Amino acid sequence: MALHDPNPQVSDYLAGTHQLFIDGAWQDASSGETFEVHDPATGRCIARVAEGRAADIDRAVAAARRAFDERRWHGLPPERRADILWKLAELFEREARTLAEIDVADNGMPIAFAEWMVGSTIAQLKYYAGMITKVTGRNVSPSIASDAVPMHAYTSVEPVGVAGIIIPWNGPIGTLIIKLAPALAAGCCVVVKPAELTPLSALYAANLMNEAGVPPGVVNIVPGFGKDAGQSLVDHADVDKISFTGSTETGKAIVRSAAANLKRVTLELGGKSPVIVFDDADPDIAIPGAAMGIFANTGQVCFAGSRLFVQKKSYDKVVAGISDFAKSLTIGKGMDPASQIGPLISAGQRDKVASYLETGVREGAEIVTGGSTHGDHGFFVQPTVFANVDASMRIVKEEIFGPVLVATPVDDMDDLVRMANDTRYGLGAGIYTTSVNKAHLVAQKLRAGNVWINGYGVMHAAMPFGGFRESGWGRENGLEGISAFQETKSVFITLNENDRA
Ligand code: NAP
Ligand code: MG
Repeated sequence: MALHDPNPQVSDYLAGTHQLFIDGAWQDASSGETFEVHDPATGRCIARVAEGRAADIDRAVAAARRAFDERRWHGLPPERRADILWKLAELFEREARTLAEIDVADNGMPIAFAEWMVGSTIAQLKYYAGMITKVTGRNVSPSIASDAVPMHAYTSVEPVGVAGIIIPWNGPIGTLIIKLAPALAAGCCVVVKPAELTPLSALYAANLMNEAGVPPGVVNIVPGFGKDAGQSLVDHADVDKISFTGSTETGKAIVRSAAANLKRVTLELGGKSPVIVFDDADPDIAIPGAAMGIFANTGQVCFAGSRLFVQKKSYDKVVAGISDFAKSLTIGKGMDPASQIGPLISAGQRDKVASYLETGVREGAEIVTGGSTHGDHGFFVQPTVFANVDASMRIVKEEIFGPVLVATPVDDMDDLVRMANDTRYGLGAGIYTTSVNKAHLVAQKLRAGNVWINGYGVMHAAMPFGGFRESGWGRENGLEGISAFQETKSVFITLNENDRA
């Protein structure tokens, strides 16, 4: 075993060929085709996975529909479903290290980041397990037409049905469970299409779902490509809901396709999130906070704080501080515990980020630190800070999805808010200040779904997460997270006073 490889049990597990998980059983793809999965730190093939296509999506949707119609899941007593979801959380605890190592091998992220992400999935599973026994409708006393007609009315909250879950590669197990936990809590049956670049942790989790007692057909996992498996799931007439995380462009395409049967759609999309540092901020908090707000997970985070605005007096000091911080970060393989920055997910993503670095220079921006790829194997890029930018530049407007920060000095509060909001996105926003007044004033004016003050990117199962504007539709986590997988039914009962026999 080479130093810093996953433990042999994990490597052995990965080295097999992985099948599709449909109706509680492992199955080959109808076409018999498989595709390769690579370790982004080395570029090496680490696993082969069955390639699901339209016919496999059909089988998986049929299995989910059968499970739903037979009420295999939502027909169970809520206490029983809560026990099963809690048991799944306990199995995630038992397998936390393995799940984290699989995502490191698959995605390249540092092991500490992967372990943090698995920890947050355990919290989500427990949070939604607890919610299952609290789902209720309400009683209403409507007065209709005339008070002479006695009436009883209530609402019932029901699962939306069969849900398609389509997830990206930047946080494989995290983006799965943030959707799957509330979908199961709501009583839905699901078909999951993981990103073709990172399907392995979802497949591993399928075994844990079986062990926890999730009935066959309730969760089906069909790895494959977006244009084939993903599109078939979105187009499928028997799917009631799509919950998607990924790029804004794919999100828009999904909305157009979903119009065919008006399936419900939740979208967690891209961003170009602003981070604001006031002169009165504590530099020991603001500098590492703003730096890791963009460099964590090599910038491959939907809410990455990629646009920095600093009040003029502190601008030089803060930009220099973030640049020094960037230079001090250890770039390396995710399994090396010293690594703070892993590779980008693929050669394509590395080339995309590298081309933005060239574009920035061509547009006249100044590289303060970083600016090129790193090493001669794997898909590494240096953490980069650009100064001398303006709002018209592509590096300022477009989501790069890499470790690239653009910095702008600002003074006037109105300018600050206007510039921070000058984006088609609205996912995250950070504010560093010791003034309670400034913090709340600016938080009120930012057009973003998540505002973090003196600490960037905090998430919690109980706190809704999602975007304004082109960062998405709807929210995950919290009560909103389960609502996204529910329908409300209103029931009116006309009572008959004369019914006295
Ligand atoms: P993407 O195309 O949006 O992919 C996300 C997921 O959607 C993947 O599972 C993908 O399958 C699938 N997909 C693609 N086209 C589809 C379609 N027509 N119908 C249904 N599903 C479809 O994102 P990407 O290509 O991986 O990355 C491109 C850019 O998106 C990144 O550079 C980044 O800017 C952004 N991004 C944002 C997030 C986020 O968290 N907001 C996450 C990932 C990427 P495949 O596996 O075949 O691609
Ligand atoms: Mg794509």
